[in-house]
Amino acid sequence: MSTYAYLDGAWVNSADAHLPLSIQGLQYGTAAFEGIRAYSCHTGGFPRPFMAEEHYERLHTSCEALRITLDNSCAELAALTSELIERNAIRDDCYIRPVVFKTMFLPGTPFGVRLAGVGHSIALTLVPMKSRLGETTRLGIATTRRVPDASMPARAKISGAYVASALAVDECTASGYDDALLLTSEGRVAEAATSNIILRHGGELVTPSLDQGILPGITRSLVLTYGRETSLNVCERPVELIELFNADEVILVGTGVEISPVTSVSGNPIGNGTTGEFSAALIEYFRKITRFAE
Ligand code: PMP
Repeated sequence: MSTYAYLDGAWVNSADAHLPLSIQGLQYGTAAFEGIRAYSCHTGGFPRPFMAEEHYERLHTSCEALRITLDNSCAELAALTSELIERNAIRDDCYIRPVVFKTMFLPGTPFGVRLAGVGHSIALTLVPMKSRLGETTRLGIATTRRVPDASMPARAKISGAYVASALAVDECTASGYDDALLLTSEGRVAEAATSNIILRHGGELVTPSLDQGILPGITRSLVLTYGRETSLNVCERPVELIELFNADEVILVGTGVEISPVTSVSGNPIGNGTTGEFSAALIEYFRKITRFAE
């Protein structure tokens, strides 16, 4: 964990930042968060946050779902992110974790489970984190399903929903897989524990559409644009499980996993069981834009 953290308008020593045990975000999971990678570059200087403003736009959306209006604009938060890296004198790749959490009842709000009338805080911390770009994944299929949109807005990155991801990861890693695929309540493909999933079938890229209750990933959108630019047909629609097994390539995409070719699903090899042609080109493209892009 970094030495300095940002908390509600002040820079604090992480070790000195204490929160009351009664905060609602802790008790009920009423918090929204983001994960942003910052990449070091061959030209030196501090690592540069990748697509920070897009992450903060999603944080604003997530906060709306929790009836929180953030005072800071996306540009201000992006600037604070760079300042966090500089204050901690970080020179290598790192991962920034912004979190907005519900705190205490405002005067006049009765005790109980509710969103209205509860205060909030915002914090930014960071941890050093090396890139894992191109590492392959043996994917298992979890019995835990993705939290349906009808229960919690899937487009918001809300802390409480990650209990499902954690259960799925524990289940699949205990069976020897690297990561977990969560299905929708209807049994279609949703997404992995903390990443979106994209299939290549011939000249087509297929990925579950947003109506499947997935998180609208920033990496997903970047990869779909890259697919279009490289003349693939991009198709966002409900995806049946069987389509995974028949795909030429399956790829996990997300801030944490970056670009990770899936070599097998439930022990069944995908394609020839190694990194496919499209994945290899995509990995190089991703390396270029994260390391050298302005
Ligand atoms: N789905 C879930 C459940 C996630 O936690 C993440 C990581 N934020 C993603 C997909 C990928 O999103 P992004 O590319 O914006 O990191």
